[in-house]
Parts: sequence; structure tokens; C-alpha cells
Amino acid sequence: MSILDEVLAANADYAGSFGPKGSLALPPARHFAILTCMDARLDPAKYAGLSEGDAHVIRNAGGRASNDAIRSLVISYKLLGTREWFVIHHSNCGMELFTDDVIRGLLANSLETAALGPDGFTDVGSGPGSNAAGSIDWLTISDSAQSVVDDVTRIRNHPLVPGRIPIHGYIYDVSTGRLVEVPEATKAGLPL
Ligand SMILES: [Zn+2]
Repeated sequence: MSILDEVLAANADYAGSFGPKGSLALPPARHFAILTCMDARLDPAKYAGLSEGDAHVIRNAGGRASNDAIRSLVISYKLLGTREWFVIHHSNCGMELFTDDVIRGLLANSLETAALGPDGFTDVGSGPGSNAAGSIDWLTISDSAQSVVDDVTRIRNHPLVPGRIPIHGYIYDVSTGRLVEVPEATKAGLPL
């Protein structure tokens, strides 16, 4: 079966027993939001105990507090009533494996998937690539605890984020499934 067929078959099963989920309210029932990484090993619904309708989950590469992530968080509280936020990065994040210069070089070389070896990523594609990567801040990570502190601090200090919202900083351990607090981040995210 192709991926498309697999997804559509899984969806048919899901929709077949959708039941009362069809009448869920739009605002998250448990009034909180999670910003986390897109990593395939992370399932926020499972690691944080979410059901449909419970919470907002905003995901991007690294779970970084990009302008777009902050846009979503602002909508989350201002229009949809969330009162408490989590920034959750994780161990063994792919964003620790390259720098802006590396990804810019790879993309300048070709638009094919790079190979990951013991010395990092190598471009194995044939060109042409593009220099358009040069104007993007890739928000890579060199220290996962520090990146959580940085992102919580950035959100806390944003002029559109009210001081009443607590922002908790955690790292999800991909080897155990546990959430490990980054105390400095949670401290930075205390309500003002
Ligand atoms: Zn990641």
C-alpha cells in the first residue's frame, strides 16, 4: 500500500468511530498550549495525555519560538483562551546536528536529500541548488537546555504575551519518554 492509501485507510477507521468528537468546542478545553519539535518520535498527545479538543500543540523543527510559533501562541491565548504554556525540546534533536552554514551549503549544492554520516550531513545530490537558504534563520540548537531557556525567555519578553501566563520549560528524553524540567527555563517563564 502507498503512504497515501495507508493514511486514507487509517483515516476511514478513525472517522468510523468518531462519535461525540464531532461536537467538540473550538477553544481548547484544558486551556493550555505546547510548543514542541516536529520529531517523529515525539507524540505530544501521548507524552502529555491529550485527547482531541484538550490543548493547542504547535510544532516546528526544534520546537523553537520562531515568529510564527509566537503568532500561534498569541492567537492561542487572545482568541482561544489558553492560560498556561509549555516549551518542550528533546534529547537527540536533529537541530543539534547542523548549523546555518551547513544547511545553507547543502542547499546551495542541491535540493536532494543529504546523507547523514558520523561526521554530519553531506550533500550527495546533483545540482542545481539554491542560495535562498541564506536569508533564513534556521534556528539550530547547540545546547538543548539553553535553547529551552532562550525560547521561554523570548516568549516571556514578547510585547504581545501577557505576564500572567506561566511558561514551563522541559526536555523530553527520547530514550525514556520522560519530561525533564529545565529549572532555569521555568524560572524565566514564571508569571510576572
Ligand atoms: Zn527535534
